[in-house]
Amino acid sequence: MTPHSEVLLDRLTEWLPRQRWFAAKGRAISRVRIAQSVRLRDREPNADLMVLAVEFGDGGSAEHYQVLVGRRERLPAELEHMVIGPVADMIAYDGVWDSELADDLLKAMAAGEQRDWLRFAPEPGEDIPTDLHGRVLGAEQSNTSIAYGEQLLLKLFRKVAPGINPDLELHRALRSVGSQEVAPVRGAIEGTLDGEAAVFGVLQDFAANSAEGWSMALISIRDLLAEADLRADEVGGDFAGEATRLGKTVAVTHQELVSALGSGTVSPEVVAQGMRERLDRALLVVPELAELSGPLRATFDAVAGLGEPLVTQRIHGDLHLGQTLRTPHGWLLIDFEGEPARPLAERRGFEPALRDVAGMLRSFDYAAYHQLAEWGEWVGPTDADPESQLIWRAEEWTARNRSAFCEGYAGAAGHDPRDSNVLLDALELDKAIYETVYETRNRPTWLSVPLRSLRRLLAS
Ligand code: ATP
Ligand code: MG
Repeated sequence: MTPHSEVLLDRLTEWLPRQRWFAAKGRAISRVRIAQSVRLRDREPNADLMVLAVEFGDGGSAEHYQVLVGRRERLPAELEHMVIGPVADMIAYDGVWDSELADDLLKAMAAGEQRDWLRFAPEPGEDIPTDLHGRVLGAEQSNTSIAYGEQLLLKLFRKVAPGINPDLELHRALRSVGSQEVAPVRGAIEGTLDGEAAVFGVLQDFAANSAEGWSMALISIRDLLAEADLRADEVGGDFAGEATRLGKTVAVTHQELVSALGSGTVSPEVVAQGMRERLDRALLVVPELAELSGPLRATFDAVAGLGEPLVTQRIHGDLHLGQTLRTPHGWLLIDFEGEPARPLAERRGFEPALRDVAGMLRSFDYAAYHQLAEWGEWVGPTDADPESQLIWRAEEWTARNRSAFCEGYAGAAGHDPRDSNVLLDALELDKAIYETVYETRNRPTWLSVPLRSLRRLLAS
């Protein structure tokens, strides 16, 4: 290692854990090393694409993070907040924010460049334009996405792992069957990591003039709460029509995934056993679950008792309103990586499609409580006054949109998810249990959202 790269490594070691997308917050890091590096640009601004391996003191497995390290003699003001640190007579910074380097990435994609272990690969037959300029979209995400004009979007995975990336895999599969429900994939940044194939980025169409489902839902509830005397179906921002269309989009996507990748079956006992095991693990983290564990187990036993095998297929795996975009033409589903905390093999497995439906139903609950929190109506660990008009109305909104979503799904799928209530309820409970673990670890004041839902679902 040259003295310069030792300095750079020190700077990166200090910088990396502070990034929003660093997934291992709170774990004690024993060592960071540059596992792989490839030069992307020699003249200033210099750029190297690096994979940092992070090792932990807890004996758990190492994680890998991708960083495009840019270097300039002087940083323009707009890059100052992205400094990694001075290295010799240059300043190292997070290069994705540098529009010159972002533009280079697109040119490399258009040219199908290969650099050592890294390959920019347009999808077969794709002509990538090079006259577009890139800018990073938002900052508070698990990955970093660069929008090129209003035409293309390059998602650079921050945490990378050897093996098949489900986001790319499912986008390709859906494109192969002509799906209109996802943004078409145009290219990928592929390569090797530890000698195995790995994916570093996905280029796809940018959905111009679109709004996130999560934001639209929040606006809808806010409108409802602001109108003291109107019901959910009477206010201007009613979301139910959109929820119905979204249900249809999810059902059609499920059918497309079956066309592209097939289906299978699983014994209900196996599904129930997975739920029981997740409950057992959650009980170690969330003591509040203990009093619910009897009725929860009874629900999972009911799944085990379903006579017929359950149909399974590839699913989205982490479906919620934040993974949907409303374009002028309809809904798109995004981000097919699956639940980030689950191991890759599990995320790529076949599952009942209702798992996605359950995820979306949970999301309506979350949207309502998020908005109540904004209104100061709901303040966290203790339940607010159950007589509260606002809470009553928010719950009415949730029920209305959950049911609209299921109707839309039923219309396209030919079967209503609510008819499979034993499995659907159990999947919702399973998801809410996962949420209690997530909230306990990340946002303890939100723990009462999934806990309330668990109680409500168990009571009904
Ligand atoms: P998160 O941490 O929120 O899951 P992520 O880094 O995994 O995010 P995505 O969920 O794929 O990345 O996308 C992040 C954001 O980028 C989305 O919330 C959406 O607003 C925007 N986005 C994603 N895909 C597109 C697209 N095809 N066109 C326009 N915007 C998009
Ligand atoms: Mg996302």
